[in-house]
Amino acid sequence: MEIKKIGVIGSGQMGNGIAQVAATSGYDVVMSDIKEEFTAKGMANITRNLARSVDKGKLAQEDMDAVLAKISTTVDLNEMHDVDFVVEAAVEREDLKFKLFEDLDRICPSHAILSTNTSSIPIGRIAARTGRSEKIIGMHFMNPVPVMKLVEVIRGLATSDETFNLTWELSKKLGKTPAEAGDFPGFIANRILMPMINEAVFCLYQSVGRPEDIDTVMKLGMNHPMGPLALADLIGLDTCLAIMETLYDGFKDSKYRPCPLLRKYVEAGWLGRKSGRGFYDYGK
Ligand code: NAD
Repeated sequence: MEIKKIGVIGSGQMGNGIAQVAATSGYDVVMSDIKEEFTAKGMANITRNLARSVDKGKLAQEDMDAVLAKISTTVDLNEMHDVDFVVEAAVEREDLKFKLFEDLDRICPSHAILSTNTSSIPIGRIAARTGRSEKIIGMHFMNPVPVMKLVEVIRGLATSDETFNLTWELSKKLGKTPAEAGDFPGFIANRILMPMINEAVFCLYQSVGRPEDIDTVMKLGMNHPMGPLALADLIGLDTCLAIMETLYDGFKDSKYRPCPLLRKYVEAGWLGRKSGRGFYDYGK
């Protein structure tokens, strides 16, 4: 099967990054969300990113215009009726993803592969909601998508070799380096990263250190490019909490319990950079 048109579900920080990378790699893209203001915000972010490359002389203005022309937006999921490949990047909620995959299974052509960018929800559980479990796969991009090279590719129990190979090759065509991870909660990336971030939040909760001290220790002591609390703010604290819940529920092991302070921040609407406030204050 040749992939020509890619559907991206969700126009948030991951969705618009995936749409940008797919269009830059020559694919036609339709990017959806639940409200026009969200798709507009996603398009504005893509435009800003590309304009920055034009300013730096890395991209010609005509090429920027050509990339933008390859992306259409919609708030109607039925627009996915002619895509060859879907990357679902809506919020990290199992019930929402189940409903989306039931709808996508009905709407998309029978040859289409339906992938999910979920950070932690087992692929097999999502696949079971569809009548095409052999065409369901995890395609887990990193944030920010245009910059980060890794894509974790995750097979569910029923994922076919053809689906796996096409997804692996697509990752490379998007300029990424794929790595295969098993279908367990959090896969590889978040199984390791998120408990570290959660422990950093416990350090703050128990006054072991201030945010800037915790981040300085990990940056200068462990040579991490970003401290764990700044990284949590970039990922989104709601997403971090959802991943910890999935690890905790999936393994039933207390070592994965989310820090109460992380929950408190999310309940207060302090979601990190995207809401202007998290462990750090980003202004409006
Ligand atoms: P986000 O909050 O920035 O964006 C999510 C978008 O999904 C929002 O615009 C929301 O309106 C939209 N949405 C909600 N319901 C929808 C529906 N039914 N149809 C279409 N759109 C819908 O979140 P994000 O950070 O972009 O995360 C999206 C997904 O990517 C999650 O599954 C997350 O776990 C995963 N992910 C996130 C990161 C990260 O660093 N943030 C990294 C890798 C994977």
